Amino acid sequence: MKNTIIKQMDENAVKIDDIKIFANILKEKGTVIFPTETVYGIGANALDVESAKKIYEAKGRPSDNPLICHIGKKNQVYDIAREVDEKSKALIEEFWPGPLTIILKKKEHVPSITTGGLDTVAIRMPKNNIANALLRESNIVVAAPSANISGRPSPTTPEHVISEMDGRVDGIIVSKICDVGLESTVIDMTLDIPTILRPGKITLTDLKKILKNVIIDPAILKKEENLIAKAPGMKYTHYSPNAKITIIRKKDKNIDEKIKELILNQEQNLNIAIMCMEDDYKKYQNLNSLVFNLGKNLDEVAKNLFYTLKKLDDNKVDLAYCPYFEGEEISIAIMNRLLKASGYRVLES
Ligand code: AMP
Ligand code: MG
Repeated sequence: MKNTIIKQMDENAVKIDDIKIFANILKEKGTVIFPTETVYGIGANALDVESAKKIYEAKGRPSDNPLICHIGKKNQVYDIAREVDEKSKALIEEFWPGPLTIILKKKEHVPSITTGGLDTVAIRMPKNNIANALLRESNIVVAAPSANISGRPSPTTPEHVISEMDGRVDGIIVSKICDVGLESTVIDMTLDIPTILRPGKITLTDLKKILKNVIIDPAILKKEENLIAKAPGMKYTHYSPNAKITIIRKKDKNIDEKIKELILNQEQNLNIAIMCMEDDYKKYQNLNSLVFNLGKNLDEVAKNLFYTLKKLDDNKVDLAYCPYFEGEEISIAIMNRLLKASGYRVLES
């Protein structure tokens, strides 16, 4: 167990003396958890092998899974990327600071532990005053994956970060719930056609405003198409709470009717929960189940998703039901995380 220094900070009143404590930890090859607009990240010096190793240890993360490098100033991209093409420059101007990670060819000195052995490096400039102050004060390129134990939901709240990571890292800065709530969109700019490898708040439509030609990695969409065919019980361990989640997709009857039917057929002693949008909240009352409100719109669903998955665990939920969020844009990012959290368990209504 490490003796973790924990400090609460206000994003709108960042005190540089407080930031210096954590910047020094990074300079001394330590690990610091800090808030970003997406999720909380666990950071260490990306260009130092010993530091980067500590991230994998704290998370229990397989070392072939590369890390995202976080920078505090746009021009630091040239310190770690071998070449920055015109299209990537346009993305940087439009979306940084913000929830977009850009993959570029790496410079020699970026260690292989940070890039998972790849010849490319993932780079992002976060939009959060605390993250930005920490990155600038330390003047370090900081590798920072989500601050969860590998395979668990990403943390978006102070309580979640502290309960999971206190004692595993040198420092933790907490503030409030993260604004976006889902990890950054990842776009690979080293391929012939720029390709979204992970969907997020910055959507295909947003990217098309800057890039003429951009696609979503077919693997992301294909899994969704083949969903129903996939056998339940397939072992995907991403974002997994302890509860078994089932997603209900509209077919013949209404989703709420299907969920009610499923709940009535369950054993009496199971702790059951329903996650739904605010407008549907009333439909699920009096079912002897916990009901979690994911929000009024899809941006709120994104923001509250991981927080709610954590609440399932805190409430010792055995089974949880959630409607399928149809549509494009942010729905793709929400469903990407929700499908993984459920082990691709989808039932049609
Ligand atoms: P996390 O830091 O936990 O949000 O995850 C980082 C994501 O970025 C993972 O899905 C990685 O596979 C992806 N990633 C990081 N670096 C690269 C890279 N060089 N090429 C492709 N994907 C990457
Ligand atoms: Mg992660």
